[in-house]
Amino acid sequence: MELRTLSKQILYLPATSQPLSADVGIIRGDKFVWIFDVGSNDEAVDIIQGIDREKNIILSHFHEDHIRNLERISYKGMYCGDYTKFKLQKGTEVQAPITYEDGVKLTLFPIPSIHSKGTIGLEVNDEYAFLGDAVYGARKNGKVVYNINILKEMITTLEKVKAQQFLISHDAAFMQPKAKVIAELKGLYKMRKPGEAYLFLESNDV
Ligand SMILES: [Zn+2]
Repeated sequence: MELRTLSKQILYLPATSQPLSADVGIIRGDKFVWIFDVGSNDEAVDIIQGIDREKNIILSHFHEDHIRNLERISYKGMYCGDYTKFKLQKGTEVQAPITYEDGVKLTLFPIPSIHSKGTIGLEVNDEYAFLGDAVYGARKNGKVVYNINILKEMITTLEKVKAQQFLISHDAAFMQPKAKVIAELKGLYKMRKPGEAYLFLESNDV
């Protein structure tokens, strides 16, 4: 896998399936290079360690394929959601949307996510939003499960995001229009059954 360019300031290393490693976003600020998820493969370590500037790390959620390399890289600050901080016992917790200006505008924000507790996203220049695995359901016994209340909160949160391009980890189409992603989530919400808190789908449906 090679680094790909999204804009003048944004690059990413695509996800791999063997080993399972998330997409790694690299945003060049004036003062720092900001890394969104650090992946789990050696390639990501080489690329991150090859950056000879100070780095700040943002972790979308605590799953291994997004964070395992953390111990193998050097960095200045690390930002994450509440549950990730609890698991790692370190980092600056993102409790509400917070914006940093570093030649790029970076907005870190919590996302109610069925896939994982303590999920956060990163909006860059109001154009792109890194979402990690936020939009995925949870896997249970070969099915994908959606908690309907969280799904609704997630849709509300993502509708407020200004960026029109959503960046979805592990998806062959890493960059997807916001409108398409929201429409798909609303489609899932419509499939809910009255009085049922969860929606179950066969895993090959999604
Ligand atoms: Zn993942």
